[in-house]
Amino acid sequence: MSDHSERDLLRELFPETARELFGDGRAPQDTVGLYPVADGRLALVSGAQLAEFTPLDPKGNKALHCDLCHYTRSRSEAAVYRVVVGARRSRYLTLCLNTEACQQRAGKSGVQTLAERIFPIESPYVE
Ligand SMILES: [Zn+2]
Repeated sequence: MSDHSERDLLRELFPETARELFGDGRAPQDTVGLYPVADGRLALVSGAQLAEFTPLDPKGNKALHCDLCHYTRSRSEAAVYRVVVGARRSRYLTLCLNTEACQQRAGKSGVQTLAERIFPIESPYVE
């Protein structure tokens, strides 16, 4: 298993969480969750895998349908995020801005289902 780069990135992005996840030297494979990082971005963590969600500029005024908790949200409550899943491939997901409440509504199985749609991703961090 070579999950070192993901862990290093995780440590860089949110050292607190990384300590929590990996501080004891074990990699809990069932760890899954979305974590707010800098600039409105979100990091999706599943075990040792990590994907970054980048918010896009909102267009129009249509209501948004959250892909995680499946609530219909207004423009001020949700955003469309781009997730790089491969060298030239991206996915687009709509998620609530309040990710904590969103994940509570979705439950762990909802977050797990979302993670299964995203992972595995192919070397998105290769230049
Ligand atoms: Zn939501």
